[in-house]
Amino acid sequence: MKVIIDAHAGPCSGVQRALCLVDEQLAKGEPVVAIGAIIHNDVEMVRLKGMGLETIDQKVVENGDLRRLREKKVFVRSHGISRKLHQRLSQEALVLCDGTCPTVRAIQKTIARFHQLGYQIVIVGTPGHPEVVGLNGYCDDQAIVVRSPEELSSFELAEKLLLVAQTTVARNKFLAIEEKILQIVPHAIVKDTTCRQVSNRHENMRNFAAGVDVLLLVGGKNSSNTRTLFDIAKQSNPRTFWIETADDIERSWLVADCIGITGSASTPLWQLQKIKEYVESITFN
Ligand code: SF4
Repeated sequence: MKVIIDAHAGPCSGVQRALCLVDEQLAKGEPVVAIGAIIHNDVEMVRLKGMGLETIDQKVVENGDLRRLREKKVFVRSHGISRKLHQRLSQEALVLCDGTCPTVRAIQKTIARFHQLGYQIVIVGTPGHPEVVGLNGYCDDQAIVVRSPEELSSFELAEKLLLVAQTTVARNKFLAIEEKILQIVPHAIVKDTTCRQVSNRHENMRNFAAGVDVLLLVGGKNSSNTRTLFDIAKQSNPRTFWIETADDIERSWLVADCIGITGSASTPLWQLQKIKEYVESITFN
């Protein structure tokens, strides 16, 4: 029997970068408070909190209560924050540690530039998602945020229009909205900002799931990214099981010649290694 870890598993580079930055600060003994959870993975958040990380709800910070942030390093996660919030934190002389993903940062800058030139901004994404809230903050919260081509009919679209996407949006969804926008506004400027790391991961997940007898997908139950990957994997391999820790594994699942272990974009590799060791310990004994 073989137990293999998916070679394409592990957090995306943006989340990985944020984790490395925060690990570095905590290892130096710096008091760090993160605006929101750095990763949608309870096991990893427990590890970071054990090293001293504190978190604060973004809404509390937006509403102006900055008391808990004094004397601490304020960590901005990979989703980024709005320009207004960034400026306020700087004005308050709070020390920032910016984990904004460079790709997200580039989209923020593009939005700001086109907004200044008088363009209407349309973002394909989920309203209220922290990345979308941050992006919208670069055009004075005036962006139109849509999830489907149908939603466009509720808005009056301008002749000068920039279309972008939340990075984790599925590319086919973005392309469908792009097609509709170009029918209405033929000269709209379209920037496909969906992240290739996400779309490539979907394809790789299909292949990995199809190549093993049983698939253990490790990820937080509160992670929408894990839900998407689970649905994709389950279509390729009905014996796919979504777990958070080794405690979730049922022995009856493990009757197989080849067991694959993978994770979502918010599952660090060390968790996959632990699951592998656990599976080997019960199946080889
Ligand atoms: S999904 Fe892509 S753009 Fe978004 S944080 Fe990860 S690497 Fe950055």
